[in-house]
Amino acid sequence: MKAVILGSVALRSQSTPRKRLLVHLSQAVEMLALRRAPSTHVVPLNGGLDGKVTVQCFEVSRHEFTHFENVSEALMRLDMGTYGRCTRCGGRIEDDVLAETPLATRCLECAVQGPQP
Ligand SMILES: [Zn+2]
Repeated sequence: MKAVILGSVALRSQSTPRKRLLVHLSQAVEMLALRRAPSTHVVPLNGGLDGKVTVQCFEVSRHEFTHFENVSEALMRLDMGTYGRCTRCGGRIEDDVLAETPLATRCLECAVQGPQP
């Protein structure tokens, strides 16, 4: 019985929420890189570390910034174990909703209800 459960976990991990979110994130970064050139800064490392780090900065619009913020918030929710919980009713967000919209913060029912009262 346990083996069956482990097997299904392995299969499902093909598209874990984390993986989906990271794909989402890397696609967004790729889109940015296609549209504009980054400004590159070389930052020397301080403290006990020797060397330099090259940081690429992109100008982003408010919309793009919000998108990145949403993805990183979803990743934080995953770490805290609250990912997939509806922020309105606290219930579980349907799996197919999360598959379609990994950044969803509401279950189907609450999404229809509109903004918080
Ligand atoms: Zn809900």
